[in-house]
Amino acid sequence: MSKKQEFKSAMNVMDGIEQPAQVNADAVSKLKAKRPLAMSTTEFVDGIRAGNRTILSKAITMIESALHAHQQKAQEIINACLPHSGKSIRIGITGVPGVGKSTFIEALGLHLTGKDHQVAVLAIDPSSTRSKGSILGDKTRMEQLSVDSRAYIRPSPSAGSLGGVARKTRETIILCEAAGFDVIMVETVGVGQSETTVRSMVDFFLLLMLAGAGDELQGMKRGIMEMADAIIINKADGDNINKARAARIEYKNALHLYPPPESGWIPVVDVCSARTGTGIETTWDYVMDFTEKTKSSGFFEEQRKQQFRQVLTETIDQALKRDFYNRKDISHALARYEKEVLAGNLSPYTAAAMLLTISSEVVR
Ligand code: GDP
Repeated sequence: MSKKQEFKSAMNVMDGIEQPAQVNADAVSKLKAKRPLAMSTTEFVDGIRAGNRTILSKAITMIESALHAHQQKAQEIINACLPHSGKSIRIGITGVPGVGKSTFIEALGLHLTGKDHQVAVLAIDPSSTRSKGSILGDKTRMEQLSVDSRAYIRPSPSAGSLGGVARKTRETIILCEAAGFDVIMVETVGVGQSETTVRSMVDFFLLLMLAGAGDELQGMKRGIMEMADAIIINKADGDNINKARAARIEYKNALHLYPPPESGWIPVVDVCSARTGTGIETTWDYVMDFTEKTKSSGFFEEQRKQQFRQVLTETIDQALKRDFYNRKDISHALARYEKEVLAGNLSPYTAAAMLLTISSEVVR
C-alpha cells in the first residue's frame, strides 16, 4: 500500500491522543454479565479469578438457577475454578435467632478485612427453603461489612430443599475461593438439620450462645455442641458480663462429658461482645490456632477429603433412588408387592429383593 492510499483509508488510525487499552473495562464486563449465556466459560473464570464481583455474582446466580442451560454452564465454571479453590478457611457460624450472628459476623468480618483478608459471607436459611420468608434475610444486615470492598455478602438461595441449597452453597464456596476470598463464613440459624448441613461443608464450626437462655435451649443445643470447635457466649457486656462468664464455666464442664473429638482439637469455650468487639480478636486467634494444629496433624486435609467423599456418595445415592422410583415398571410392581406385604403374604425383604432384581435386569 502506497503512502497516499494508506492516508485515504477510513480504517487508518490518525495520530492523536492515545486511547486506553480498553475503554471502561468494567462497563463492558457489566454489559456482558447481563447475558450470562453469551459469556464463555473462560470469560467467566477469568473474571472470577480477577475478582470481578459482577461476574462472580452472575456465576452464582447460574448455580442457583433451575434452567438446564445455566446449570450446565455453572458446572463448567465450577470445574474450571476447582484447581484455584480450597485456599481459604471455611467457618460455619450458627446460633438461635437474636443471638447476634449478623452482629458477630460483621464485627469479625471488619476485623479481618482490616487485616487485609478477603471475606465472603454466605448463608443457609432453612426458613427460606420452605418459602415461608426468611429468618436471616429480612432485616438489613451487616451494613458496614456490605460496603467493605474486601467483603462479599451473598444471601441464602431462596428456594429449594435443604439438600439443594447446601449443594449451591458448596459450589458457591468454590467460586468465592477462586475469586481470592481467603475467609469464607457460612451462617445458619440453629433450626433443624441446617447446622449439620453447614458442619459438613466447613473446616471450623462456631456456635454462638447466650448466657442464661434457659434449660430447654441448652437441651436443644446438645447435639450441636458436640459438633462445635468453639462455643462463644455472645453479649458479654454491661450487666451480662458475669452471667456470661458463669455460662462459660458451665459449658466447659458440659463439654467434658463428650468423647474427645476426632480432630484432636479440644473445643474452646469463651465469651465475646459482638457489639463492643471484646473477644472478637481472640475468637480469630482460636480459628488460626485450630488451622495450624489440624494442618500439621493432617486432620484439616482429611476432613475436607471426607466432605468430598460424603458429597460424592450422597449424590450417587440420591440419583439411584430417584431413577429407581421414577421407573414405571418399578412403581407398578411396588404397588403390587406392597399390597402383598401389607396383607402378610410376602416379607418386605423378599419384596425389596424382587424389586431390586427387576431394576437390575432391565437396566442390563
Ligand atoms: P441474629 O438474629 O443472630 O443475626 O442476631 P443480630 O445480630 O441481629 O442481633 C440481635 C440483637 O442483639 C440486635 O439488637 C443486636 O444489636 C443485639 N446484639 C448483638 N450482639 C450483641 C452484643 O454483643 N451485645 C449486646 N448487648 N447486644 C448485641
